[in-house]
Amino acid sequence: MDDERGRAVRELAWEAVRHLRWLADAGMREIPTPAVAPGAHPPARAPSAPPAGDAAPGYRTSDRGCGSEPLLAIRAELGECARCPLGAGRTKLVFGTGNPTARLMFVGEGPGADEDREGEPFVGKAGQLLTRMIEAMGLARGDVYIANVVKCRPPGNRNPEPAEIEACEPFLRRQIEAVGPEVIVALGKFAAQTLLRTTTPITRLRGQWARYGGVKLMPTFHPAYLLRSPEEKRKAWEDLQLVMKELGPAGTR
Ligand code: SF4
Repeated sequence: MDDERGRAVRELAWEAVRHLRWLADAGMREIPTPAVAPGAHPPARAPSAPPAGDAAPGYRTSDRGCGSEPLLAIRAELGECARCPLGAGRTKLVFGTGNPTARLMFVGEGPGADEDREGEPFVGKAGQLLTRMIEAMGLARGDVYIANVVKCRPPGNRNPEPAEIEACEPFLRRQIEAVGPEVIVALGKFAAQTLLRTTTPITRLRGQWARYGGVKLMPTFHPAYLLRSPEEKRKAWEDLQLVMKELGPAGTR
């Protein structure tokens, strides 16, 4: 038991060290004040609260990313989707995760191997870095909503094909409408270029406000790229600071 507690304490300490390293890499010299005091905002709707929404066959509001009736309806419509070839190779369809009424939404490219296995976006090393980025903003991962342009893993982590995006993106668009975020952060070149219908390099897109479906969108670097190029964390942090400024002190609903 003591060993277990010791392991838990050591893991917590390591997590704190990793978080502080992210802050230091991003050029911060002091720990930011949380944007939201704990309990200052109503918690996300309890996933199991609206039993009426559970009428969708096979899906529940307690399922990952389905925490509201509109989101549940989208998930139910997707079902065991085979609208594009990516469906045939997936282990799990990665719908989304997080606060169903989040003010801030992160959108990535598509699931990788870890996400395909877990059925959750942004797990694994890049996901852990994204979590630290969110926490550096004074938020918790559960305060935001996270999804991808495509919901099934492209083989070998290749970029999704245009036809695959065309089949899947309408569901992302509807998720965005269902969540109703005030700001979307597009993570990486592919997500930013796809959502903005542009071929402009991410190095020129990042740090500049754009719009997706009427919602303000901030492109920034993908956490996987930041793992390979930690010297770029400072720029990503500058982008996130613009987002924090836009959202104001109340980062969550
Ligand atoms: S990627 Fe999207 S459209 Fe293609 S099978 Fe998966 S859920 Fe369906």
